[in-house]
This record gives sequence, structure tokens and C-alpha cells, in this order.
Amino acid sequence: MTMDHLIVHEAHNVAMRDTPQHFYDKQPSRGSYIKNKDQYTEWYNQSINNPEQFFGNMAREYLHWDKDFTKTLTGSLEKGDVAWFLNGELNACYNCVDRHAFANPDKIALIYEADDEKDNYKITFNELLTRICKVAGVLQKWGVKKGDTVGIYLPMTPEAIIAMLAVARLGAIHSVIFAGFSAGSLKDRIVDAGCKVVITCDEGKRGGKTVNIKRIVDEGLNGVQSVSHILVFQRTGNPQVPMTAGRDYYWDAECAKQRSYIPCVPINAEDPLFLLYTSGSTGSPKGVVHTAGGYLLGAALTTRFVFDLHPEDVFFTAGDVGWITGHTYALYGPLSLGTSSIIFESTPAYPDYGRYWRIIERYQATHFYVAPTAMRLIKKVGEAEISKYNISSLRVLGSVGEPIAPDLWEWYNEKIGNENCVICDTMWQTESGSHLIAPLAGAFPTKPGSATLPFFGINAAIIDPVNGQELTGNDVEGVLAIKSPWPSMARSVWNDHQRYMETYLKPYPGFYFTGDNAGRDHDGYYWIRGRADDVVNVSGHRLSTSEIEVALSEHPAVSECAAVGIADDLTGQAIIAFLALKNEEMEHPANPEDLQLLRRELIMKVRGSIGPFASPKSVIIVEDLPRTRSGKIMRRVLRKISSNEAEELGDLSTLANPEIVPKLLSAVDAQF
Ligand code: ATP
Ligand code: MG
Repeated sequence: MTMDHLIVHEAHNVAMRDTPQHFYDKQPSRGSYIKNKDQYTEWYNQSINNPEQFFGNMAREYLHWDKDFTKTLTGSLEKGDVAWFLNGELNACYNCVDRHAFANPDKIALIYEADDEKDNYKITFNELLTRICKVAGVLQKWGVKKGDTVGIYLPMTPEAIIAMLAVARLGAIHSVIFAGFSAGSLKDRIVDAGCKVVITCDEGKRGGKTVNIKRIVDEGLNGVQSVSHILVFQRTGNPQVPMTAGRDYYWDAECAKQRSYIPCVPINAEDPLFLLYTSGSTGSPKGVVHTAGGYLLGAALTTRFVFDLHPEDVFFTAGDVGWITGHTYALYGPLSLGTSSIIFESTPAYPDYGRYWRIIERYQATHFYVAPTAMRLIKKVGEAEISKYNISSLRVLGSVGEPIAPDLWEWYNEKIGNENCVICDTMWQTESGSHLIAPLAGAFPTKPGSATLPFFGINAAIIDPVNGQELTGNDVEGVLAIKSPWPSMARSVWNDHQRYMETYLKPYPGFYFTGDNAGRDHDGYYWIRGRADDVVNVSGHRLSTSEIEVALSEHPAVSECAAVGIADDLTGQAIIAFLALKNEEMEHPANPEDLQLLRRELIMKVRGSIGPFASPKSVIIVEDLPRTRSGKIMRRVLRKISSNEAEELGDLSTLANPEIVPKLLSAVDAQF
């Protein structure tokens, strides 16, 4: 059985969307950096055929090197020993802050949009430099030096960015842990990374509620001997928050003792800049290691060319700094280019669903970058708020984290973009460091539902998962792999290089395996189909569960859905579909006959869109789906529950709504 049997989705036939003229008119320079498809193709070919020259030039153009590199690239994907910019030395903090503070001291670096809008403020590059130096001074006093790991457990405030850059300034390695994690998950990550210092705050503010951040830290670090010091930023200043004498120190008091400038410690391009744990959608999270030179270059180049970001633009990444999107596109990308970045502490629903649009209007944001899950929420409950605000400053709308269904793409384009923006559906991963496949805004047409074309240096390949052969040409379906090294690729899994090799480089020797399925259509555009684990084989037909999800989500009653495959005596595998209904249907629970009717309709929908063999064996209506803390659906939990293996649910540390598990179990029990 080959992947040719995969259903080529009819979405392939959607028309290309040209860049709206308004996008160019609104641009400061009246044109995008990459002018057209021909220029993209020319640069792309250079980046693939002569990566050393291409990225060597780019690295010297966009980054400041304290010591120039002597060789651009060595190593191979087979061996897992890739290295870029050898013997070069640089400092990420210098690149993101110092050089802009010298050139443009009063330019705004960070715009803090606090949980309570009354607490908002802005920070110039010059102020940012001083604030970073002071924290770096504290860390240095505590013995933090090049190569040490520092844990950061902070909500999305300027202090999170300052802490990361202070660590980078000393040549040390930051490990940010999303501030929604439990004490146990925090502990596992701090211990795995071997952090000796942790930077946190007393309490967090989110959606008007107070979160006991320090209490979680105290609980998680109880008995962890390796942590000698904790720096505590007083976000709320609640005097009741306990401090452990000799270990815990207040941020402001310690910074007050430090000088306003301390020099950067340049590190080798291949020294780690940070480690970051993946979302845990498919298994236990991996501590991905990124290096200073290659990562920073990937962040700068993708931010500039994918988003067509100009120096006077204002970039709004709605994602948290606890995830890779926050690292690359709230911090390192925009700041390395000297552009203002909005740091958003709150939620799209607080104090009302107008929050995002108010931010865009207030700061005249030009770029908005968000996950489809947030857009689904707005579409479901918050659409009425949009028209109350003037968001015409927007030029580029980004999407990340999951496939964006064509109908949601259209909605985003019409309702938020007013058909005047470019939609950038960006496909990438914690491990890739920066975008893999994404439109270059203004350079070539997009297609709703497609991540379009590979970025410079991304030698994308579609592989037949059955025989491991690359499928060349267009109109092919298989797994997505990358054929040659790119600068911002992860170099290892922290303390577990073997897991790195086994997860990414061994499955298809000579290729980096993304773990995702994808198709390449007749125009060479890529369509991400979901996780490779989520392919099912029903009576000899291989199909990706995301195909079924697209069909189900087209039904007007469905708000979100997930399909999984389970073993079946008759057909090999059978499909079970889980779905949550739209608000109004949930508020007026239908009687059992109506639900039965709805189930039948949904099955007919899948039969009609894909074929009778794709019909779900069961359609299970649930209140909500299990989600990771970064908002992704955890299909592996649904798979285990439907396969009667609920005792083996695996690592649930990144599950955001554990209370849903017993409800899912009883919903499944009721069905079978
Ligand atoms: P884990 O690796 O621990 O299972 P994860 O893969 O969810 O977790 P991330 O690195 O946060 O962790 O997510 C990367 C994955 O998200 C990609 O491999 C892909 O499956 C999905 N993804 C990201 N962006 C897109 C996109 N634009 N379209 C489709 N899928 C996307
Ligand atoms: Mg992954």
C-alpha cells in the first residue's frame, strides 16, 4: 500500500489569491522586500544549491559578529552533527538590543499590554538595555556564567523578555517554562535542565484573576538542591507571598544594587542559546536545544521575509513566550530587526472579546500572529466585537500551531483582514526554530488552507512512508521531511542526543523527519495534513484523519472535532470522531433522537466528501476536546480512550483540561 491511496483533497483546486493592492499601498516602502515569485525562486534556488554562500552572506548582513566565522556549514543529517558558522562568535542580546539602543535609543522596543489595560506601558531600546544589564548583573553575582542553565517561569510580561535576554547576555542558556504548568511539570523541567537559578514572580494576573505563581515554584522546587537562587519579580507586590531566606531575592531590590551597563559575553555560534520543551501533543515533551548563531539568523530572516516586516512596523504576536512562537516571533525575530513588539499578558476574552482589536487599534499594529484555536474562539463567540474597532493598520495576519481550515482562513481574511491583508499560514515546529513552509507576504499568491512554499534553505521533500522513498514531482502525498540542514534547526535534545537521532534523523536516513503528513499540489504548494501518527488504514485505504476532520467541520453544528483510528477486526482500523457542538446547540441540548439524526448527518457528510470507507464507526459528541496548554488537540488521549487503554494515557503534563478525561471516558462508554 502506498500513500498514493491517500485521498487528494478537493481543496487542492482552490484558486490562488493574489496579494491585495492595499497591502502594498499600506507599506512604508510601497513594496515588499521580495518583489515577486521569480525573485523568490531565484533566492530559493541559491539557498538550496549554495547554502554556504547564501547563508554566509545573510549571516553577515543581518547579525553582528564579535568574531567572524571561518566556515559556514559542516556535518550532515545522516550523522546528526550539523554545525553552522563555525568559530564565529556573537551575542544574541547584543544583536537584539545593544546595537539598536546605540543607533535608535528612543525607539520603542516593547509595548506591554498588561492584563489590566491601566497598567500598560512602553520600553525604549535604551531602557531595555539598562533593565537587562541590571538583571544580568544580579545573575553574574550569583555565579551564572556561560553554559549554565537558568529557568524562567514568568507570565507574558516585559520581565520575561528581560530575563531571557539577561541570561543570553551572559552567554548562559535559558529554559522558559510556560507559567501555566503545574508544580510537578515545572520541577521535571527544572531538574532535567539542571537549572541553578530560577527567575519568577510573586503572582500573575490573567483575565482579572490572580495566579499564585510563587506558590507553584515553592512547591515544585521543594527539595530541589541544584537551585541556589530564585529572583522574584513583584508583579502584584502581595506581601503575603512567602520568601525563603538565603534563596529568594526581590528583583527590584537586587537590580537597584547593580550597574546600568555590563558587557555582553560573546559565545560560539554553536553554543546553546536556549532549550525549550515541545508541546507534548504526540508524546512526552522533548527539551529541544537551539544554538546562538543559526537560531538567531533563522528568526531574523523569517521575520523579515515571511512577514515582510519593516523597521517602522508594530508586531503583535498573541502567543506566550512559554512556547516557541513567543521565543522566535515576540522576542528574537522582531527585536533582532529592531522592530517594536507587543507583549500581551491577558486573554482574548478579557475584559471582553474586543481585546485583540483594541490592542491593534491602540498601537496601530501592522502584524498580528495567532493560533487557529484563538480565531475559532472569536468566530464562535466574539465576532460582533470586531467591527467596533479600526484595525485597518493591519497588513499581515499570521496563523501558527495547527492547520487552518479553509473556511477559517476565509473568515480570518474577511473579518479581520477586510480582504486587504496577506494571510501567512506558517508551518513550523519547536525543533525547526523558525518557519519551514510559509508564504512570503507580497511575493507570491496564497491559497486558503495551504502553507504555500518552503522558506529559503528549506529543502522540503514528501516521502512515501511505506517504502521510505522520496516522491518527486507535484500532486504527491506522504510525510513531510527536509533534505538538507538549515541554520535554525535544533541541534539536539537536551541530555539525550540519542532521542534526537531516533525522533528526527533515523526514521528516514538522510532526511529530517517532521512527524507531519503533507501533500504537494499541482502548483508545488504544500498542504499540511496533520500528524503522521494520525494516518488510518481502513479496509486498505490509507487516509489522514485530518481529511475527515475537514469534512466534519464543514457541518454548521460543529465547533471543533478530532478523528482517531482504532483497531478493528473487520476493517483493520476504524474511525472514531469526537466533536464539540457550537454554543447555541450546547445550550439547548437536543433530545436523543435529534442527536441521533445529527450523527447520521455527519456520517453522510464524510461519505459524501471523501467516500463510504471513510465513514466514522462512531460519532461521539462531547463538551470539549482534550487540549495541550498551547491550545492543540491531544489526539493521542482520544486514541487511547477509544481503544480501551485509558490506563495508558501517557505524559499528561501538558494537558490543559484534565477534568475532561473522565467525561470523555463516560461518553465513550455510553457509545460502545
Ligand atoms: P510534541 O512534539 O511534543 O508532540 P508539538 O508537535 O505539538 O508537540 P510544537 O513544536 O509546539 O509541539 O508544534 C509543532 C507542530 O504543530 C508541527 O509539527 C505541526 O504538527 C503543527 N503545526 C504548526 N504549525 C502548523 C501549520 N501552520 N499548519 C499545520 N500544522 C502546524
Ligand atoms: Mg512535535
